[in-house]
Amino acid sequence: MSSVVVNALSFDIEDWFHLVGIASLADARAWDAMPSLVVERTDQILGILDDRRVRATFFILGWVADRHPDLVRRIGDRGHEIASHGYWHQPVYAQSPEAFREDVTRSLEAIGAAWDGPVAGYRAPTFSITPEAEWAFDVLADLGFRYDASRFPGRRAHGGAVCPDDPHRVRGPGGGELAELPMSVERLPGASVCYSGGGYLRLLPLPLIRMGFRRAHRRGRPVVVYLHPRDLAPDCPRAPMPPIRRFKSYVGLASTERKLRALLDEHRFDTCLAVLESAGVLASPEEVAA
Ligand SMILES: [Zn+2]
Repeated sequence: MSSVVVNALSFDIEDWFHLVGIASLADARAWDAMPSLVVERTDQILGILDDRRVRATFFILGWVADRHPDLVRRIGDRGHEIASHGYWHQPVYAQSPEAFREDVTRSLEAIGAAWDGPVAGYRAPTFSITPEAEWAFDVLADLGFRYDASRFPGRRAHGGAVCPDDPHRVRGPGGGELAELPMSVERLPGASVCYSGGGYLRLLPLPLIRMGFRRAHRRGRPVVVYLHPRDLAPDCPRAPMPPIRRFKSYVGLASTERKLRALLDEHRFDTCLAVLESAGVLASPEEVAA
């Protein structure tokens, strides 16, 4: 172990066709007829975590939970944390507060039909709780969530926030409060760069990812890792999209498992909830109920 900082390991459980902003995938009525990789690749993730005896947080899309309740149970039965990734995978800032509440509630119902444990955490599709969408914190607090993991401290397509890099408390304009686990970024002059999740983790060579971990740990800061089942699927179907988006969506798929296993060997990981607990930013369940 090169470090005593415990990092947060997370997976957003959705299928390859849940990419945001791709016209040919936007019609949800077509999803059921598409080939699916979410079960096979999530089981692959569970196998890797079994090997390394590591717990993680699974932000599960309600749409997936409805279709694969056995998968939700397999995740929960292994002691991993089950959390919500919403239902339809729409950016939060593109929804009204009412539609967002409906979407998240439906995801909780779908997860709840398969798994009767508590759901404490939420992550928005594409880190889309932007400064204009912070009303979402009011909705999440009202629905009983203890934390959010949707803030990306920098610019990105379909998301991005202005916020501290460390775990912190957030408060919506209506006063709703909860803990926040922001995505990890490295601050470079003029830009915040992600290195520990999704396309960034697939694209960057391991030495650069390791440097990001070292720099975060020097500040005593946990690193948040996030991946999707499709990130481990070299056979992931390719949807028609502009070349730059195509590169970002599919670069490095064959290297993801090797990088993930290396990071699991080199660092300590736990669930998002456990990391926030250690950071001291979670309210107790009693305080939430009060
Ligand atoms: Zn997602």
